[in-house]
Amino acid sequence: MSQVPARLLFLGTGTSHGVPMIGCTCSVCRSIDPRDKRLRPSIYLDVPTHVRLLVDTSPDLRQQALVHELARVDAVLFTHSHADHILGLDELRRFNAIQGAAIPCYANAPTWETLRQAFSYIFDGVTRLGGGIPELDPREITGPFAVRGVRIVPVAVWHGLMPVLGFRFGNVAYLTDCNRLDDSAWALVDGVDTLIIDALRDRPHGTHFSLNEALDVIARIKPRRAFTTHMTHDLGHAATSARLPAGVELAYDGLVLDVSVDVE
Ligand SMILES: [Zn+2]
Ligand SMILES: [Zn+2]
Ligand SMILES: [Zn+2]
Repeated sequence: MSQVPARLLFLGTGTSHGVPMIGCTCSVCRSIDPRDKRLRPSIYLDVPTHVRLLVDTSPDLRQQALVHELARVDAVLFTHSHADHILGLDELRRFNAIQGAAIPCYANAPTWETLRQAFSYIFDGVTRLGGGIPELDPREITGPFAVRGVRIVPVAVWHGLMPVLGFRFGNVAYLTDCNRLDDSAWALVDGVDTLIIDALRDRPHGTHFSLNEALDVIARIKPRRAFTTHMTHDLGHAATSARLPAGVELAYDGLVLDVSVDVE
């Protein structure tokens, strides 16, 4: 196994409502700082000459693809089945058309169960007149796997009572939507250079890490650098950044990180 450089792009760093939130007039929702504009959570990992991976299909996928001129998605990884992570699934039709092929989609069994229910028109096998459906190649995640030679390690985390998958790609781990790491997760993220982690807001929440809880996890894992994601309007970018410890930053939509991924 060796490592190759890759580019990790934050497509969305907001919580399920996005920021600004509909109908909110708070200072963060009205901020003119572009880093306070947060679409729904997703990342895109470009591994040149290997693969372009999308993690989750947010309701903002169309806009995210247009803004960042994404023209290829070789595979999709799903963290879990909440609406803010899956409702853009239908947008994959454009990538089917461009690529002329079904798109491999990876998720654990409970996520597949919900995807098949939520998107029954894709999976029920009924031929419909007019209106295409995405062509997907469903794959179940049961352990570490590789996509076009790029090694992906699922990392079990807990989102309240819901099991969610984080992913480690070489020297970077993406842990969205969680308020606890599974006992099995700590060894899998050990030694990571770059950690991306859920930090919803300052106040505690039943299914997401608060900022202080995320900082505790970061302090235990000790990555070289860490980025928070899935943030509400409570965490204005500039004001929150000013009170973070060295090596921890708020991610923002459009931020690109240079990382290294493992290839087989
Ligand atoms: Zn979410
Ligand atoms: Zn607001
Ligand atoms: Zn969720």
